[in-house]
Amino acid sequence: MARELYGVRFPPGTGTCEVRVSTTGGSSDVEADAFRRLAAALPGVIFSYEVSDDRTTHRFPFIGDRIVPLLGLDPDELARDATPMFEIIDPEDRRRVIASISHSARRLTPWHEEARLHLADGTVRWFDALAVPEEEEGGAVLWYGQLNDIHEHKELEEGLRAREAEHAEHARYQRLIAELSAELLTSGLAEDLDASISRVLEAVGDFFDAARTYLCELDDELSRATDTHEWCRPGVPSLIAQERDGSLLQYGWWRDQMAQLVRAGRVLAVDDVDRLPAEAVAERSYLSSQGVRAMLCVPIQIHGRVEGFVGIDADRARDWSSAETDLLVVVAGLLAGAVARHRLERELVEHSVRDPLTGLHNRRYLLPRLAEMAGHHRRTGAPYSVAMIDIDHFKVVNDRLGHAVGDGALRCLAEQLTELTRGTDVVARFGGEEFVIALPDTDQDGARAIVGRIVASVRERAVDVEGQSLHLTVSAGVATTEDEPATGHDADGLLRAADRRLYRAKSEGRDRLADAAGVRRP
Ligand code: GH3
Ligand code: MG
Ligand code: MG
Repeated sequence: MARELYGVRFPPGTGTCEVRVSTTGGSSDVEADAFRRLAAALPGVIFSYEVSDDRTTHRFPFIGDRIVPLLGLDPDELARDATPMFEIIDPEDRRRVIASISHSARRLTPWHEEARLHLADGTVRWFDALAVPEEEEGGAVLWYGQLNDIHEHKELEEGLRAREAEHAEHARYQRLIAELSAELLTSGLAEDLDASISRVLEAVGDFFDAARTYLCELDDELSRATDTHEWCRPGVPSLIAQERDGSLLQYGWWRDQMAQLVRAGRVLAVDDVDRLPAEAVAERSYLSSQGVRAMLCVPIQIHGRVEGFVGIDADRARDWSSAETDLLVVVAGLLAGAVARHRLERELVEHSVRDPLTGLHNRRYLLPRLAEMAGHHRRTGAPYSVAMIDIDHFKVVNDRLGHAVGDGALRCLAEQLTELTRGTDVVARFGGEEFVIALPDTDQDGARAIVGRIVASVRERAVDVEGQSLHLTVSAGVATTEDEPATGHDADGLLRAADRRLYRAKSEGRDRLADAAGVRRP
């Protein structure tokens, strides 16, 4: 039985047309030739495709001649059996193509499919086909359609999609960096910094879909690592909690890599722990024992010194991308900046409450601490004491040995005072060669014992300054909250009373201690 395609009839079993133009009712080779030319001039390949009534055979009753240069298939052969066409469909696409043809046959809905075809020259190109089905008498289904090479279009589309995905990824990275910078820049005190670092590690862990992220401190020789902060995905064991020894001495490969990274400012990326080189056997067994399959770490450098590293552990092999490693470099930079800034702030605060010559606290620190002790005393009745200590005849030291030796003597005395007091006592340089010691929770007897020991010990120990052995003595005035009502219980009152008693100790011979009970030479 002859069939029609666009008004053109062609007999079954051949790829060539026997043309019968239905509008004229006649037939001629001229018109057949016209149709072939028309088909050849159209973009793509027009075809008719038939599936038999029992759905066991299929063929292309007509397919444009262009199929020969395009796919290297023979139209006459395809007119008998469509199988060669299906054989060149990429295996990944074939099942889908057949399924959609069946669907179109059942529903008689237009068929559209895209698939990769394997060409005779070995290349693979994308094609699409559009066809409209009709059911024939007897149950066979016949489609009329067109096949197009859409490879360029497809590549363009895929390139576009890849670029879009890349843009989306970049946007995600930028959001993360913005979030982390804000987090680290707004953190104030040291406790805030710790909390911020923890939040940064969590955000990075989430972002990388990691098992664990951590911040480690390293010593100068890269011989010991101490975890300071850590984030673990739920269910992943914490390494900080294991309190491991942290020695890196057996991990020569790792230390080597780290030293190289520091020089190059780069990242240590392990895609798969199982594929670490032979010399990294210790690292491999340690990481495997912790369930780590891949890792990424970046040194943290502060003012050019490596102080630690930030790391990501994954429990599956990873192919770390350069975008990911770059991101961790940025995170390491942010963390380093935040740590450096906090250190600087802490130093500034320290400097403002310390005396630069002796390293002791200054009045700015002492006075609020004394006020605290006074408040505590008012609330709880707990005693506290104040001692004022002044070096005897210090002008003589300066005059005879020079100011530099005088300075050295002040430093030595400051050390002695610190050594002879408790950690809770506040030792402050109050003026030139005058010191105040605030003694919390200390009554008159306790203060006398401590300050008496100081006066005696200064007398007994010579101080060595610039090769000279100096013998100094000090005088001390002590006041405590028990000296009611002479002192009043506020810090000012105690300071004034201690100062008065210091004067008495001086006037009664120096190298002495004066308190409410009188003057004595301990
Ligand atoms: P006194 O036993 O009465 O206390 O006699 P003194 O000579 O110690 O007298 P005073 O306490 O009045 O003198 C303080 C001297 O301490 C004056 C100053 O030369 C010296 N002095 C103060 N501050 C410094 C300092 O920072 N360095 C040095 N080298 N000397 C200082
Ligand atoms: Mg003096
Ligand atoms: Mg003085």
